[in-house]
Amino acid sequence: MATLKAVRGTRDLLPPETELWNRIEATARAVFARYNFGEIRTPVFEDTALFSRSVGEETDIVSKEMYTWEDRARAQSEKSQSLTLRPENTAGVVRAYIEHKLGETGQLQKLYYIGPQFRRERPQKGRYRQFWQIGAEVIGPPSSGSESPLRDAEVLEMLATLLDELGITGWTLELNSVGSSADRERYNAVLRAALVEVAPKMCVDCQRRAVTNPLRVLDCKVPEDQPIIATLPVIADSLDEDSRAHFAAVTTALNAAGVAYNLNRHLVRGLDYYTRTTFEFTHGGLGAQNALLGGGRYDGLSESIGGPKAPGIGFAMGLDRLVLTLQAQESVESSAAPEKIHAYIAPLGESLNAAALTLARELRRAGLRIDLGDGGFRLKKSLETADKMARRIVILGEDELRSGILTVKDFASGTQTKVPRAELARVLAEPSGR
Ligand code: ATP
Ligand code: MG
Repeated sequence: MATLKAVRGTRDLLPPETELWNRIEATARAVFARYNFGEIRTPVFEDTALFSRSVGEETDIVSKEMYTWEDRARAQSEKSQSLTLRPENTAGVVRAYIEHKLGETGQLQKLYYIGPQFRRERPQKGRYRQFWQIGAEVIGPPSSGSESPLRDAEVLEMLATLLDELGITGWTLELNSVGSSADRERYNAVLRAALVEVAPKMCVDCQRRAVTNPLRVLDCKVPEDQPIIATLPVIADSLDEDSRAHFAAVTTALNAAGVAYNLNRHLVRGLDYYTRTTFEFTHGGLGAQNALLGGGRYDGLSESIGGPKAPGIGFAMGLDRLVLTLQAQESVESSAAPEKIHAYIAPLGESLNAAALTLARELRRAGLRIDLGDGGFRLKKSLETADKMARRIVILGEDELRSGILTVKDFASGTQTKVPRAELARVLAEPSGR
């Protein structure tokens, strides 16, 4: 029988690597808490229409990357329905915002999420079919201040702080404004006209986009198309007074806070819902998949899926890419060996297994990290196993059980001592090698 493997584009995360994942998630949660964000968890699958209406039919995500299936009805009262594994989480958050009428509180909603997303992409380094995102959204009715450029600057400043606290060095913030929907309509017309002449020299996808959704041409990744894209008109020239002023206020606040950025007039991002401020944080160490995170403002998203007016701004960072970046940095900076556990308990004989479990329970409840051998092992094997993972070994034989005085060997110093059971937890918590 052929052996079963994890599906192409998916992978298992194993210890000790998962420790790094947990550290990143814990740091993100701590930073979000300081900025007064609360966690939201939305379902992993949603009605397909949610994504086609928000992310956009012409985007790569919706047109070719979604895992979509027709879900059969289980009862007469149910209808079969087209469902999709979420390719991103903003649409789900905004759906939840509408469904739970969060706008009626009048308060600005500040929500973050951490979870897996799914896209049928070509797997390569930093690009998977199941990948993880850490993201956040700031959304609310206009009266809550959700449209203010201060919100954009605050989110960007928070991201700079988060990347710094994660220890990621050498990131770049790429910043642009794609304007309001009216600006985009104007720009679309300008772009469409410019594309008439050059589109025939571009890839087939761009030839189609030139007609259906010209903005998506700017998001093309085909290397041969890049010189042509560089000559196209930029959206900055199509922004109206309000959009210009909004963007100027964002950059003024970033300058004041000392958050460095790079104005990138060609940055448009691959989802249709973005308006005004758009951004990416990139990192040179990632190679072709150089985006650590992407985001922007989405002032019309709620209305496009049937909700009230609810301007917002958010981002999603690729957790897989944060891990890759930190691993690359740490191997340069010297990787520390994983910390050893406090002790390994070795029962001398199977009749002592139950007593060994009781002892382990006591010590673990006292907060120590303990592993437990088996009375079926020879002492030599126990010593070898323990030496690899623990600072000390606790030997539990008939004598030790009866007298309540345990034999403890410290691997760093090589010394063996007798310790009364009542003092064991305190002794094991001390640094080894003394
Ligand atoms: P890219 O240009 O790298 O394809 P994107 O524009 O599709 O990114 P978004 O949809 O904005 O990215 O997602 C935000 C972040 O999620 C990206 O910056 C990246 O770090 C991460 N990401 C996106 N797709 C994948 C994937 N297939 N595998 C791993 N991480 C991903
Ligand atoms: Mg992509």
